[in-house]
Amino acid sequence: MSPLGQGSGPGPAGPSSPSSRPRRPAGPSSRSGPAGPSNSPGPAAGPGPVLLRGGRLVDPAGGHDATADVLVRGGAVAAVGTGLEAGDAELVDCDGLVVSPGFVDLHVHLREPGREDAETIETGSRAAALGGYTAVCPMPNTDPVADNAGVVEMVAARGREVGLVDVFPVGAVTLGQRGGELAELGTMAHSAARVDCFSDDGRPIRDARLLRLALEYAQAFDAVIADHAEDPSLTDGAQMHEGEVSAILGLQGWPAAAEEMVVARDLLLAELTGGRLHLCHLSTAGSVALVRAAKARGVLVTAEAAPHHFTLTDEAARCFDPVYKVNPPLRSKADVEAIRDGLADGTIDAIATDHAPHAREDKEVEWATAPPGMLGLETALALTITELVEPGYLRLGQAVERLTAGPARCRRLPGHGGPVVPGSPANLTVFDPTAAWMVAAPALASRARNTPYHGRQVRGRVVHTLLRGTFTVRGGKAGW
Ligand SMILES: [Zn+2]
Repeated sequence: MSPLGQGSGPGPAGPSSPSSRPRRPAGPSSRSGPAGPSNSPGPAAGPGPVLLRGGRLVDPAGGHDATADVLVRGGAVAAVGTGLEAGDAELVDCDGLVVSPGFVDLHVHLREPGREDAETIETGSRAAALGGYTAVCPMPNTDPVADNAGVVEMVAARGREVGLVDVFPVGAVTLGQRGGELAELGTMAHSAARVDCFSDDGRPIRDARLLRLALEYAQAFDAVIADHAEDPSLTDGAQMHEGEVSAILGLQGWPAAAEEMVVARDLLLAELTGGRLHLCHLSTAGSVALVRAAKARGVLVTAEAAPHHFTLTDEAARCFDPVYKVNPPLRSKADVEAIRDGLADGTIDAIATDHAPHAREDKEVEWATAPPGMLGLETALALTITELVEPGYLRLGQAVERLTAGPARCRRLPGHGGPVVPGSPANLTVFDPTAAWMVAAPALASRARNTPYHGRQVRGRVVHTLLRGTFTVRGGKAGW
């Protein structure tokens, strides 16, 4: 059986990746392991020097939010200041734009191996770069499941080969994500992929004893266990959030309690073991309150929320368009407010997309049979600005933190999330916080089309993305 949840089930292998490959950014990454680039400046053969001039540098990890030039040389930040001389560097005018660390997505599904008809590491990497990301963490619910060194190494190697974004694979906690016995966490941690995060995402870790063991064992290699909080005994057959709308529509509900009781259990086990726990896609007010209280008493927990959980409610299900079907489901207005508050006060550390591409023939079917999940990589920034910053829930600096330093801290990802200081890898995003545009599903770089935001007017657009000093996106276009 395959993992559920944003999961694509195992199916026939799709067509292999297209032959057109973007140019691989040169630089230190080409030699470094998948666990992250070194901090050393790249070799002379790396990307040419670039001066990002006159942008508003928003670098929460460095405590910086003011106009500054950023000089990039040899794949690393060479200088930060005002009035920097371009010298031999290419001058890039950033007047009116925001310069930030590259975004980090803790939760994506790239579908490779197994469902390359829905997404590949290449198409997903391109979507990520266009969304301003320089690092993504693909979940292990592929076919085969990433529960061994061979699969995580393949995913990491393919990510390096595509070279548009750093790909940090997440390993499965249990063999086959079946929940029966622990996968070989140590082998994956010590593999060439150097996995430092494990999750059965798409499924919860049902057995409390197994989660306890994982939280204890993972400490040996300083890894984090990321759980998808859902009590399946309360969600079997569920189609949407349990509430007034589900009652009216006659669809079986997924109660908030099914998430909250697992969040509570997980927090207790994190406290018991002293292990590092990360909670995936929090969606309810009760979950936010539980995490807030646990953090206050010192539990080592971090949490993420997905853009659809701070922008959409269960009202969307009324149209029965399965593009709105997702797991955990779209919740109530009060839950959306609580997620926004949790992001604002830092209870929720990271915005993670849970990017879940699905092939059209799988997703564009009756609501009840459609798999859960929606695209996220190319719309996250705009939704964050439009729905959190412009209405005043978060200041821009806080929003950037939840897209950069926050997620990087959850996994302690090297070289990502800032600070933007001399010597650090030049993983940078330049965006226009005011640019208005309309989301159009056919224009997305993802191989899939299941975005619930098609036709929506938003503000905030990525202009350039640099991975170790190489433009992966330039002028809003990928493939440079
Ligand atoms: Zn999940």
